[in-house]
Amino acid sequence: MKSVVSDFEYFVPKTVEEALKLLSQYEEEECKVIAGGQSLIILMKQRLLTPKYLIDIKGLSDLDYIKLDEKEGLKIGALTTHRAIEKSPVIQKGFSVLSEMEQNVSSVETRNWGTIGGNVAHGDPSGDPAPVLIALNAKLKMTSLSGERTLDAEDFTLDYFETALRHDELLTEIQVPTLPPNTGVKFTKFSQIVGDYAIASVGVLITLDKNKETCSDARIALGAVDIAPMRAKKAEDVLKGEKISNDLLAEAGQVASEEASPTTDVEASEEYKRDLVKVLVRRVGSEALARAKKA
Ligand SMILES: Cc1cc2nc3c(=O)[nH]c(=O)nc-3n(C[C@H](O)[C@H](O)[C@H](O)COP(=O)(O)OP(=O)(O)OC[C@H]3O[C@@H](n4cnc5c(N)ncnc54)[C@H](O)[C@@H]3O)c2cc1C
Repeated sequence: MKSVVSDFEYFVPKTVEEALKLLSQYEEEECKVIAGGQSLIILMKQRLLTPKYLIDIKGLSDLDYIKLDEKEGLKIGALTTHRAIEKSPVIQKGFSVLSEMEQNVSSVETRNWGTIGGNVAHGDPSGDPAPVLIALNAKLKMTSLSGERTLDAEDFTLDYFETALRHDELLTEIQVPTLPPNTGVKFTKFSQIVGDYAIASVGVLITLDKNKETCSDARIALGAVDIAPMRAKKAEDVLKGEKISNDLLAEAGQVASEEASPTTDVEASEEYKRDLVKVLVRRVGSEALARAKKA
């Protein structure tokens, strides 16, 4: 009987360097890295991917950590599971939006196996972590045998399931800067079933001035409404330097819905998704504002 996935040679490197050496030995088309396997195995079962060589990095404990440094901010190793982020007291206290986002990524089973690095490296425009990381102004660290480089989270995903990662690189760390004072962040995804992939998602960060009256900075990130997670920069400009009111948030929502480029699919029409962006930016923005006032 034919197996569901095609045959492959399986490697379990013990160190990051060993994994990088293996990656550099094989051509892109014949070799894949596997972390939690929650996305990759599906593609292999569907035979959309038939790698000859599979490099299993899940056991590389050097890439499984959550560290907080007062100056440098939060650092999350790429192999940290969704569940570990959801349950981390450090994240719940200082970056609660990340923990809240993780609560609705699929089921506990998937969250126990799937890693944040695997999620981001998968490059799914509907993935939940990316818009939150973009709103938080996070950077992603990539490592190859020739060294390290970092990219802003907003520049990482280039197209549907296509990222800036080179074939010889591993995504190794997610770096989230310390939040400025008077800052609130909120994320919401809209899906048909709780825990399902987003039809549209929105992350908003608002920083208020020292009197907590005017908006000194705003970042608005959208998921599932373009070829990649995106920033709605024109909508951000509507809020920056202004005293934020409900009307202004509604205007930012309208502008964001025009910046998005959703497509009609089995779940919703383009018009419906634009409307979702409009409503979600207003609601999520209002909650981010309330958090900024309390911060
Ligand atoms: C039923 C189901 C529902 C889901 N629902 C959601 C959802 O609602 N929201 C959501 O965001 N996600 C969802 N997911 C995806 C899930 O979050 C996965 O955890 C995630 O997409 C992949 O993580 P992983 O560690 O399993 O990666 P894998 O499946 O092992 O790998 C995914 C891709 O990333 C590459 N890769 C993995 N790690 C690295 C690395 N460190 N460096 C370089 N490349 C790497 C692999 O080569 C592969 O191309 C769902 C998955 C399932 C099965």
